[in-house]
Amino acid sequence: MKFKMLQTLAVLLTVTLVLFGCQSQKLEEGSTGNNETTISVVASFLPMYEFTKKVAGDRADVQLMVSEGQDAHHYEPSAQDVAVVNKADVFVYSSDEMEFWTKSLFKTIENDNLIIVRAADGPGRPETEKVQVEGAANHYHTGDEIELTAKLTGDADYDHWHWYQRADANEEWAAISGQGTDTFILEAPGKSFEVKAVIYDHNHSVYAESEPVELHIDNHDNHVHIDEKHEENDHEDHSHTQAGEGVSIVGLADHYHTGDVVTLNANIIEEKNYEHWNWFVREDSEQDWEAVPDQETERFEYKTSGDSFEVKAVLYDNDHNVYAESSAISVKIDNHEGKDPHIWLDPVLAQDQVLAIRNALIEADPNGKQIYEENAEAFVKELKALDNDYQAALKDAEHRTFVVQHQAFGYLADRYNLEQIAIGGLSTEVEPSPSRIAEISELVHKHNVPVIYYQQGASSSIAQTVATETGTETAVLYDLEVLSEELLANDLGYLEAMRHNLEALQASIH
Ligand SMILES: [Zn+2]
Ligand SMILES: [Zn+2]
Ligand SMILES: [Zn+2]
Ligand SMILES: [Zn+2]
Repeated sequence: MKFKMLQTLAVLLTVTLVLFGCQSQKLEEGSTGNNETTISVVASFLPMYEFTKKVAGDRADVQLMVSEGQDAHHYEPSAQDVAVVNKADVFVYSSDEMEFWTKSLFKTIENDNLIIVRAADGPGRPETEKVQVEGAANHYHTGDEIELTAKLTGDADYDHWHWYQRADANEEWAAISGQGTDTFILEAPGKSFEVKAVIYDHNHSVYAESEPVELHIDNHDNHVHIDEKHEENDHEDHSHTQAGEGVSIVGLADHYHTGDVVTLNANIIEEKNYEHWNWFVREDSEQDWEAVPDQETERFEYKTSGDSFEVKAVLYDNDHNVYAESSAISVKIDNHEGKDPHIWLDPVLAQDQVLAIRNALIEADPNGKQIYEENAEAFVKELKALDNDYQAALKDAEHRTFVVQHQAFGYLADRYNLEQIAIGGLSTEVEPSPSRIAEISELVHKHNVPVIYYQQGASSSIAQTVATETGTETAVLYDLEVLSEELLANDLGYLEAMRHNLEALQASIH
């Protein structure tokens, strides 16, 4: 058993040495006098492997997991893979949205010391990048409009914001409804509270967040308040909730992420002296309502676990008959998993991945810091040169539309101001419908596109169908998701494949 595993590793190593090893092997040989034991690193699929290899040089033992012919989106780790990761120091992958299978892998492995690098997260936020919230007034009156602006110092280009509130520091933060930009607008509630602004990166991980901001509600009810500035604030404006029937629910956010706390408040319009509430949830209207334990006031606090659900509030009278109830409210859970995961195909975002890998190798092997830093710097320099070549080659093109089979080049298109038309989806398995193919054919004619690109290593049949229908050619773009015979045979690494792509793209972009 053990022998068999070693054999497999040996095969992997041979394959990978053929691919990328030759050069660095020669460079490193005999360059250092000491043979320190190095760390063992497993990388998920090809670009992650190559980025890691470039940073590690000979200092770390780097192994590739998704081997020849396998699809990086839909790989299934073998028992041997698990055994290897169980003994590794570092595991490198791109993101949960790319390598779906890592979720179950992480549940299976037993390795407390493993450092996991989600390279899509990048090297982390520089100290200079902070969130500042501006515009808070000294105090507000109930019903005033609160308007705040969040600013990210530094130059990250993220724009996905969420705002959270809590009554005070003893409470958990809850997402606030309809606040998805850097501007926060809310009608001041009855009591003082705190807010914070959180900005997410492209993978929907928290990138940075503000300090809590206290919003002080003071309605001058006790008339001891010595007032400062009230230019525009008309005290007669203090509004009351509009009257209506039954129960209304306030505080619902546009969407929540798994683990967010949903905080809702039930408002009863006809004020009665009843205060026995129950909150009910169900997955959807096909299911029965289930009472949520320990939620017996007008306030509902609920930590989301996975799927979207519906909630309603019911108020009982003193005889425990239903007195009033709200309509069903949909709580939407959106973890932004329909996101494009193909970030390594953007030579700029690839640099962030390399730096994330560098940081993890340093964490696992602090003595190798200098080597990892130098190697990473050298490779980032090559990626910058690649970026310059793309910019130079594409900047003046009149025709900026290209058609691909697999929707893998969205980041590349964004980076160089191109338009990607994808026949299939974000994951390679999605087959387009006949109507989608007809739609694509129309676009091909409209933009006079001469080539349909298919990803190397995959079947070209879909691209071929469209090409035949539109009288166009097919050509290869490498997405590097599959380690193919062709890559092996031609000794193609990331930089070479990306340069091939640039050349191939210019049939459409010119
Ligand atoms: Zn006032
Ligand atoms: Zn979100
Ligand atoms: Zn893909
Ligand atoms: Zn055109």
